[in-house]
Amino acid sequence: MALPLLDNATISIAGCWVSSSANEPRIAVVDPASGEPLARVLCATADLVIKGIEAAEQSLADEPSLAERRRWLVGIAEAMVTHREAIATIITRENGKPLREGRVEAEYAAGFFRFFATQLDHLETQKRPGELKGLHWSVRHRPAGVVGLITPWNFPIAMLAKKLAAAMAAGCAVVVKPAELTPLTTIALWHLMEGLGLPMKRFNLVLGNPAEIGRILCEHPAVRIISFTGSTGVGRKLIEQSAAGVKRLSLELGGNAPCIVLPDADLPKAADALVANKFRCAGQTCVCTNRVLVHRDVADAFAELVAERVRKLKVGTGMDESNDIGPLINRAGFDKVARHVSEAIAAGARRIVGDEPKTPPGDYGCFFPPTVLTHVTPDMLISREETFGPVIPIITFSTIDEGISLANGTPAGLAAYLFTGDAKQAEAIIARLHFGHVGLNTAAGPTPEAPFGGMKQSGFGREGGLEGLLEFCEVQTVVRA
Ligand code: NAP
Repeated sequence: MALPLLDNATISIAGCWVSSSANEPRIAVVDPASGEPLARVLCATADLVIKGIEAAEQSLADEPSLAERRRWLVGIAEAMVTHREAIATIITRENGKPLREGRVEAEYAAGFFRFFATQLDHLETQKRPGELKGLHWSVRHRPAGVVGLITPWNFPIAMLAKKLAAAMAAGCAVVVKPAELTPLTTIALWHLMEGLGLPMKRFNLVLGNPAEIGRILCEHPAVRIISFTGSTGVGRKLIEQSAAGVKRLSLELGGNAPCIVLPDADLPKAADALVANKFRCAGQTCVCTNRVLVHRDVADAFAELVAERVRKLKVGTGMDESNDIGPLINRAGFDKVARHVSEAIAAGARRIVGDEPKTPPGDYGCFFPPTVLTHVTPDMLISREETFGPVIPIITFSTIDEGISLANGTPAGLAAYLFTGDAKQAEAIIARLHFGHVGLNTAAGPTPEAPFGGMKQSGFGREGGLEGLLEFCEVQTVVRA
């Protein structure tokens, strides 16, 4: 099936689409729902990756004015909205998520370009008032240089938009490496950017051996920042590899989000919020609740409210608008979720919603039945690891101290949610939660206008908000006699 915006699905180096070499390996992109091949994208050799870095470095000589950056950002935001359906279709075809989620992702991604276009005044030279030490002082925000952006498959365009829009606003040049499973939305964005007349030598797009590309980006002296979203294991590797070059890193890594429900919470509202949060992208998001921690006084009632809602969810291909949950990204993802559920049940958990999962035919069609488990304990795999699937595990606790301690009992610190009717108690609990994003009586995820990022092993650096823009700037202080 032809995908709109993708006449030419390939990589882009130094402003040119590279699609010629017959000897190069190619990455086959398939629809995770059906296994249908969508494209075969060329892999970049090490030489091509280096060529992309060098082209980006050379392009830095022409620093775009703030007005020019604003034009680019606004143009991209508008083009993304104009082509929302096409972008959503590509997202759904390569990632599997329902089409309506693809549309929301396209709008959300456009929001980062729109937002950073409004932040450029912060990059004007700032004079310090009066004379300090008898001298004149000013502060500039310079582009950090060439930046390497590495993104995951669960939000094929949103995870890139957060980085790219901020890097572009800061005046950086980029080398982007999208996930092997979902590169097509990024390629479509490159077509849109080219159509807007952007200087594409600044914006290089590579695919290929991830370890090799990661190593080159970490080791090349021209690359000053690596901004990575993905697993904690790969994030750790990037820290090690970039130590010698003393690079700045921005790492958005894995989560293990708790959702704490107290007896005074509005339980039906909490159940609605939890179900909306948990099943987005079939539970394959870093901010989706991984552990539901419910006070024992309301545990049975809350489990029933959640179960009622989950029973209504429809699973199937994301292109069918009537479906709520698409397939998991691949067989490895499916096997992990199945292992978490079966291990939990063997150790005493009870499945109150969800059939036995059917083994998929191959690496595609990995539809996992939405599942609710009660009697889950903190020592089970499903509590300790990020499940990345459509499963709600319910754990009970007896005191607020115990609930907080369970919530914090993970090396991850990305997102947490708290449901309570007591505002004073909520503030006291939030102050004790070690998570970068906390939802109070909501399970909403991030927005372009506010900084988002993790604590502890969920990484460091922030995306979104003014903080997200400053990640890509070097602060230069000039003192004048
Ligand atoms: P992943 O395996 O770490 O892959 C992420 C990206 O890194 C992909 O582009 C991948 O390339 C690349 N990569 C793999 N090995 C690499 C290496 N040695 N050096 C450099 N790059 C390398 O993660 P994933 O499975 O795609 O994504 C799921 C994880 O991302 C989850 O843990 C999730 O929580 C996390 N995540 C975090 C956030 C956040 O904001 N904190 C947001 C979304 C997802 P290939 O695709 O070619 O393997």
